[in-house]
Amino acid sequence: MFETKEFLKLILDTVSEHIVVINESGDIQYINQSWRAFGNQNNGSCNLDWYSQNYLRVCELAAKDDEYAYTALKGIKSVITKQQDEFYLEYPCNSDTEPRWFMMRVVPLQIKEQRFIVISHLNITERILAEQQVHKLARIDGLTQIANRRCLDDFLLEEWNRCQRLSLPLSFAMIDLDHFKMLNDSAGHLVGDECLQQVAKLLNSFSRRTSDLCARFGGEEFALVLGNIKFDEATVLLKRFKSELAHLKISNNGANAKNILTVSIGLVTLIPTANSSPTKLIEKADSLLYEVKYSGRDGMLAVDESCTSDNQVH
Ligand code: GH3
Ligand code: MG
Ligand code: MG
Repeated sequence: MFETKEFLKLILDTVSEHIVVINESGDIQYINQSWRAFGNQNNGSCNLDWYSQNYLRVCELAAKDDEYAYTALKGIKSVITKQQDEFYLEYPCNSDTEPRWFMMRVVPLQIKEQRFIVISHLNITERILAEQQVHKLARIDGLTQIANRRCLDDFLLEEWNRCQRLSLPLSFAMIDLDHFKMLNDSAGHLVGDECLQQVAKLLNSFSRRTSDLCARFGGEEFALVLGNIKFDEATVLLKRFKSELAHLKISNNGANAKNILTVSIGLVTLIPTANSSPTKLIEKADSLLYEVKYSGRDGMLAVDESCTSDNQVH
């Protein structure tokens, strides 16, 4: 009994992979139960006669407007023509209601004189979603839920390269909370944490375009990247951020006459060139920030390096 065709077929019907076997011309020779169930589900239960279908033709039709189908078709053909021993592809295949990912594996099967191709599709959505979640978590600051330093470094480099290629201005602001240690010491670290969250939320509302990013640079330091924005517009935005923060009236006893939390800002606008780098841009904004600290805090020093004559704003 264990050797019978029926027994082996029943086993193939228990596996969750959707399996199809085609000949070298692409004609479907065999499908298992998972394949049939998936096909029916996606074709509105129309009970397609799979055995009259040519799988290569199905792929060719899909490949016209789907990059993954095009890659899959090329891969299957490369196994048919023996250019590759095996082909493997992970691809998205979203349903109407949810994201879905599959892994396709294509291997040859030689039975006596005849050569077949076995194609299996395995649902790997759970794994991909878990990977995407890990990737997201690795780029977000846990306390403030804005971009972390790793994400900032990647984004700044990308935006730097884009602006250099297109000769566009790029602005970078470094923002440091004034006398934050004092706030922690008097109100406690948990209140300090809440303040960091409030500042992050407000600053994040100034990052509106895909070329902008608000990030936590480190402890009580934040950064704002503004791609393709003029110096004057960047200074107006950061002045607005400062004044909206003042309106929040976050208490920081002893820090200044009004006993409220303030920030110091260093801002640089430039058109990226090969002579400079994102690191030098950060250093420049940082040194401006420290000038503000030395001259009494609660201010902004902004330098326009995107035009030939330097333009400073206090
Ligand atoms: P300055 O105006 O010169 O910047 O003074 P400062 O007190 O803000 O700067 P300093 O570097 O002396 O202290 C920074 C403080 O930020 C000390 C540290 O405890 C606090 N800090 C850093 N990260 C966190 C955090 O995640 N939560 C809280 N509550 N505090 C933090
Ligand atoms: Mg600091
Ligand atoms: Mg500080």
